[in-house]
Amino acid sequence: MSQTVKIAIDGPAGSGKSTLARALAARLGYLYVDTGAIYRTVGLFAKRNGISPDDENALSQRFPDIDIKLGWGEKGQIVYLGGEDVSESIRTPEASMYASAVSALPAVRNFLLSLQRKTAENNNVIMDGRDIGTVILPDAQVKIFMHADPAVRAHRRYLELCEKGKNVTYEEVFSDMQTRDTNDSTRAVAPCVPADDAIIFDNGELGIDATVEKALQIIKEKLI
Ligand code: C5P
Repeated sequence: MSQTVKIAIDGPAGSGKSTLARALAARLGYLYVDTGAIYRTVGLFAKRNGISPDDENALSQRFPDIDIKLGWGEKGQIVYLGGEDVSESIRTPEASMYASAVSALPAVRNFLLSLQRKTAENNNVIMDGRDIGTVILPDAQVKIFMHADPAVRAHRRYLELCEKGKNVTYEEVFSDMQTRDTNDSTRAVAPCVPADDAIIFDNGELGIDATVEKALQIIKEKLI
């Protein structure tokens, strides 16, 4: 089989990486893999089972029961926990905080490594997350690290949650985002930092169409 193309898009919450990755995948006909959804699902498991999200030992003991599968449908990626479609249940602010906490546990990152790598094995993929360029797909041909001002990112995330009918205030979203930024960028294992060979992409001033066009340009240049 000819070599597949791997595109890694990393960056903090609200940096626009999933919107960009989804649009690029549609344009290029690649598989879009949202790795944050996988961490959110482990967080949901912890919450449902009364496990503190920073209790590495208790959570590790339950790994054999955490059956996560990914699928793709009309709306994009679907994530299943023990056969149940949890794609919606993992999108609450509480699930975000659980995801952030469980994702700092080395055992959890290790547990989820092969699922992520296997998904990329036989497909052209656009994978978004925090450590795709540094840890999961270090050989990705294209690595983009998204960056935008925290206030811009919080505003985007706030609008997104409002559109989904979630009852949140901008201040809550901003404060949660700051907590997650700190957790994600300072954790000991796989912090959210750009790979040495990543292109830093500040899209704070760009709309989605311009962001996609600029990213397509980066990808073309890298793949020539
Ligand atoms: O991208 P999303 O906001 O859905 O991710 C939820 C949480 O999962 C993040 O706050 C981060 O802590 C964690 N995560 C991670 N590594 C990834 C993707 C997500 O640590 N590759």
